Amino acid sequence: MKISVIGAGYVGVVLSAGLARLGHDIILVDINEEKVKTLNEGKAPFYEKGLDELISEVKDKVKATTDLKEAVKATELTFICVGTPSRKEGYMHIEQIKEACLEIGLTLLRKPEKHYVVIKSTVLPGTSEECIKIISEVSGKKFPSEFSFAMNPEFLREGNAVYDFFNQDRIVIGSTDKEIVEKLREVYKGIESPILETKFRDAEMIKYANNAFLATKISFINEIGNICKKLGVDTNIVAKGIGMDFRINPHFFKSGIGFGGSCFPKDVSALAYKATEKGYAPRLLNAVLDINRDQPMKLLTIMDNKLNGDIKGKNIAILGLAFKADTDDVRESPSLQIIKELLLEQANLHVYDPSAMESVKKIFPHLNYTSTAQEAIDNSEIVLLLTEWPEFTELNYGDKHVIDGKNVFDTDKAHLRSKNYEGICW
Ligand code: NAD
Repeated sequence: MKISVIGAGYVGVVLSAGLARLGHDIILVDINEEKVKTLNEGKAPFYEKGLDELISEVKDKVKATTDLKEAVKATELTFICVGTPSRKEGYMHIEQIKEACLEIGLTLLRKPEKHYVVIKSTVLPGTSEECIKIISEVSGKKFPSEFSFAMNPEFLREGNAVYDFFNQDRIVIGSTDKEIVEKLREVYKGIESPILETKFRDAEMIKYANNAFLATKISFINEIGNICKKLGVDTNIVAKGIGMDFRINPHFFKSGIGFGGSCFPKDVSALAYKATEKGYAPRLLNAVLDINRDQPMKLLTIMDNKLNGDIKGKNIAILGLAFKADTDDVRESPSLQIIKELLLEQANLHVYDPSAMESVKKIFPHLNYTSTAQEAIDNSEIVLLLTEWPEFTELNYGDKHVIDGKNVFDTDKAHLRSKNYEGICW
């Protein structure tokens, strides 16, 4: 099938490459010319494990462009994968989505064939109906007879996005139009995965509830971890014990400096904000966010105690900037919050990350970025582990103080820890 994908972020690029591997012809649209150029050279515009290889494998089936109208005109189905950022307090912006729908509507004005539009971006319940209204008003066409629409949320994990595309736990398709559901079944043919058909709002809410639950699991284990730390108990062993209960399961049970990234903080805040706006006080969601906000401070408190509160002028190694391993994404990374706090305390930072330094240089251009992790360690008296890159287990820490915020040396690797090692919750 000929498919256009709007937005060459994580979701759009992985989706395009995955669909091309399934045999579809893809036109990937972005307003960012740099991204378009990189993609047309057969490369991914960001680092994600396995993505460069996949893009170069399918480069004849993926064309990138800045011309949205031409892309929609030349294809049968369009996925909208643009960003849905939220303000600090949670209000979600859907301007990028509205803009894309407007452009699609304008194109459909002059396209006689029926077109299929699918939202992949994470949007609050009610947004699909708003999008249908925009496309309908602009194009003068009726849903579902003259154009069709579905909500098909994305559940990929950054760092595992390529694997996740081909191994989806489920595909959720929300629409009141059976025809587009059948189209999407055809699009995903080749992926062995159950398909859940829902209405628009159900599909939109499933994505938020999913992320809210996962974020809750992390804040839960961090809360237990903070209590364990006070009681001299190793949270990792406790997590292992409770994870063996099949009703709980062992995934997402690593305590540490909290969740970051482009999804959990934004999506939980957006859901909490919307609930409040509708007159419901979401106490659990607010607690999840509160715990997460405080978690990086736990690491700083441990460090403060080790240095007797004397941080000014101290050499500190920051190992890890990305919010998780196998990606270069630093959006909402707890590492950045820790760096800000340490700069306020006038510490000398020696910073290393195997893939995310270029993004952070745009935010903090004057930090001392080292060319290896070992160099950062050798120049410092205390080392903070802030991303779970496996290579950080293979370094020589000597007798430096090491504070692990990400379970780099979890229980299985405990024998590799340095003498002066301390975990944030273990
Ligand atoms: P992103 O911000 O990295 O990328 C969005 C891209 O859309 C940008 O490259 C931007 O230039 C482009 N864009 C914006 N307006 C455009 C327009 N009118 N025409 C063409 N391109 C346009 O976003 P992302 O991380 O890929 O996320 C996209 C959506 O998917 C969000 O709603 C997000 O919440 C959701 N999501 C993200 C993930 C993830 O892991 N990143 C996972 C699941 C769902």
